[in-house]
Amino acid sequence: MRKIGLSFVFTFLFILVSAYAYADKVYNTDVVVIGAGAGGMTAGVAALEKGMKVIILEKMPGIGGSGNYMEGTFAVGSDMQIRENIGINPEKQFKTVMNFHHWRIDPDVLNAWLKQTPYTIRWLEQHGIHFEKVTTAFIDGNRTWHMFEGGHGSSLIKAFAQQIKDNGGTILTETPAKQLIIKNGTVVGVIAENADGEKVTVNAKAVIVATGGFPCNKEMIKKYLPYAGYQYAGAAGREGDGIRMMEAAGAKLVNMNVVMQAGLWLQGVSTDQQFHRGAKYVKMIAALNQPYLFTSLQGNRVVDETQSLEYISNAFEGVGGEGFAVFDENTKKLWENTGLIRGYFGVVERMEKIENFDSMLADGIKQGWAFKANSLNELAKMTGMDPEVLKATAANMNKMTEAKYDSQFYKDPKWLRAVDKAPYYALKGSLRMYSTTGGAKVNSNFQVINTNGKAIPGLFAIGQDAGGLYSDSYDMHIAEGTASSWAINGGRLSISYIADNYK
Ligand SMILES: Cc1cc2nc3c(=O)[nH]c(=O)nc-3n(C[C@H](O)[C@H](O)[C@H](O)COP(=O)(O)OP(=O)(O)OC[C@H]3O[C@@H](n4cnc5c(N)ncnc54)[C@H](O)[C@@H]3O)c2cc1C
Repeated sequence: MRKIGLSFVFTFLFILVSAYAYADKVYNTDVVVIGAGAGGMTAGVAALEKGMKVIILEKMPGIGGSGNYMEGTFAVGSDMQIRENIGINPEKQFKTVMNFHHWRIDPDVLNAWLKQTPYTIRWLEQHGIHFEKVTTAFIDGNRTWHMFEGGHGSSLIKAFAQQIKDNGGTILTETPAKQLIIKNGTVVGVIAENADGEKVTVNAKAVIVATGGFPCNKEMIKKYLPYAGYQYAGAAGREGDGIRMMEAAGAKLVNMNVVMQAGLWLQGVSTDQQFHRGAKYVKMIAALNQPYLFTSLQGNRVVDETQSLEYISNAFEGVGGEGFAVFDENTKKLWENTGLIRGYFGVVERMEKIENFDSMLADGIKQGWAFKANSLNELAKMTGMDPEVLKATAANMNKMTEAKYDSQFYKDPKWLRAVDKAPYYALKGSLRMYSTTGGAKVNSNFQVINTNGKAIPGLFAIGQDAGGLYSDSYDMHIAEGTASSWAINGGRLSISYIADNYK
């Protein structure tokens, strides 16, 4: 009898201890931020500075998201720009951007963001973020791109992680948010799940959604984007969780078909092997994006090759998302002996020479993204292009080059180049995005707007979860660095509003 009594007590204690260990975790805070990327980390630092308690939920084991990849951020009228006599300010930029987007974006939201941008560069500098320079990737472009130290936003993420820790903020990694908590139409928290499978409830006065859009979600890509084969560059984990949670809460979604993209990528080559200074094939992606001859998979010319890279991507959306850069031995020699005419995003400078073209080409031939042939006929057969179409395209290009007049797309004739000296080459490219850009409609305080046009109390969206910055195309050539600036400034502006209205 005594024995039974003891084992009962032990069993009871065991259940009690287990229940405690595996109990739901409940936190109470002022602000909960979903996503520890560029926008979320900025919101975290800004909230603590305003004296609010903050918890940041991050789905992945590491923090930073795509914020680790951004090279530079946008501002107009910053101290750096004023010092260097760069005559650009929010008023001029407002007109340019509204015209470019045909007044199909919200002018008040645009203005609130633009006006904040110079102060944010100053605020970032005051928070230990260093910029190397303010620049542009385009010949005669607007110098709006404030380059992070080392060319990578990871310096911002690292500095902000330390500041959040030092000032008592909490970042919970491997804790994806699953659902918004809504009471009487007001968003009052988030339910998440940690790595041990435990339910994590965070009750908060305000919720900021910053999960980085949906570039890693194949179903959403198929549903919303014009090209279902889109791959993504940058961080994994951006699967549209935030957008889906907000839609379930009644948010209106806008500009869901627009992605942040620039030119073509070497097909099948990992982002890390082609997209940073010194990457193994970085000069090959630069070669792929030179302004000479782009063809479709069939061999038709696709676009005025001198257009800004986001336009080149847009044009390829219209022909199936894949194609080729086609060139001849003379062009190859030009790149080896004189250099690449068009630089590539600060990772390859204008006029840099390609020293190891043949060895990269050999790799590309093995991997299926590069081709070399003694005739156009042979090149077409290797690549799958229609030989008659490719030969006609090349013949037309040669005729236009000789005539110094592009009768097809009216490209500046100085960029016309013949394709008439064997051997012939093709590099295969396809579309890859940095991010999606559509998301919840927001107002100037980054409050989420519902389908009836009203702000949803307690709910904010920033960065790539907030739509409304681009109407039907990414606009890099009029403003470089806007995506990260939208995220970072959204973090500051939403916190400013929360501090004034929810404390
Ligand atoms: C290669 C590359 C180069 C770029 N270069 C530039 C540039 O030079 N200039 C520029 O302006 N922009 C650039 N960008 C874009 C820039 O990185 C983004 O605009 C910016 O990071 C967006 O910030 P965000 O906070 O919206 O998303 P992110 O920084 O991507 O952060 C989102 C975070 O949310 C997390 N998350 C997702 N789902 C959940 C969930 N359910 N629960 C919790 N957490 C979740 C993700 O894991 C991620 O950490 C570049 C992007 C790439 C990929």
